[in-house]
Formats: sequence, C-alpha cells, structure tokens
Amino acid sequence: TYVIAQPCTDVMDKSCIEECPVDCIYEGERALYINPVECVQCGACEPACPMEAVYHKDDLPAEFLPALESNAAFFQLP
Ligand code: SF4
Repeated sequence: TYVIAQPCTDVMDKSCIEECPVDCIYEGERALYINPVECVQCGACEPACPMEAVYHKDDLPAEFLPALESNAAFFQLP
C-alpha cells in the first residue's frame, strides 16, 4: 500500500485527495491517512504531493517508518 509520512503533518495540502480514484485518503487532525484496505495501489497520490510525503510502503525511508504505526492507529488496524 501507499503511506503518507511525516512531511504531511500540519501541512495537509490535500492534492493527493483530488487524485485518488477510490477516495481512500482521510483527514486526521494534523495529517492525511491512506486506508490500506481501500487503496488500489494506483500510485497517483505519490507525485501529487508537494511535500513528497507519499511513499509506497516498501520504499519508505527509515526516518518515516513511524508513519506505519500512526496509519494503523488511525484506522484501528492491527
Ligand atoms: Fe488512492 Fe491510488 Fe494513492 Fe492508493 S495509491 S491512496 S488508490 S491515489
């Protein structure tokens, strides 16, 4: 799946939301989150982000790994 990492925090540009064909990007209080169950892996959100906050999970830089936990917590996934 694709993941929105820390550069989104307190920015929430939302360009990614406009690109997502399945509307699986949700707004939290301080950042946006991609629902990994609904994401169809199209990749359209990644280049749309002006903060370069969107990564495929497998390409997530080490410093952004905490985003995986934040994402799981947001959607209450294990
Ligand atoms: Fe939406 Fe595609 Fe990004 Fe998944 S990869 S969040 S389906 S735009």
